[in-house]
Amino acid sequence: MFCPECESEYKDEILFCEDCRVSLIFELPEDVSLEEIKWVSLDTISGDIYAEMVKESLENAQIPCFIKTDFMISAYGVKGSGIPGTKSKIFVPDDYYDKAMEILDEMMDHD
Ligand SMILES: [Zn+2]
Repeated sequence: MFCPECESEYKDEILFCEDCRVSLIFELPEDVSLEEIKWVSLDTISGDIYAEMVKESLENAQIPCFIKTDFMISAYGVKGSGIPGTKSKIFVPDDYYDKAMEILDEMMDHD
């Protein structure tokens, strides 16, 4: 597992970089090196559960991605709405952005 931000390598059972507060990525396509990737956010997403769903769909489509959760926002969002107060963003490599948005659109349609 790799952290896309600090580029640390982790054991497989670790899913989260505590230093950067981002989810780790499983593996990268062979022709891509971490240093060369420009990460862009798919910022139409809110709520941890939905972000996890999107991440799973992206991974199924073999698009490298990670979730970054903004814990600052969670402090203001806990007023019993049942909606997770954290705001998550999914990041994908620049090259995969269009494909990722297509997948996202499909998921939105099913809602
Ligand atoms: Zn990190």
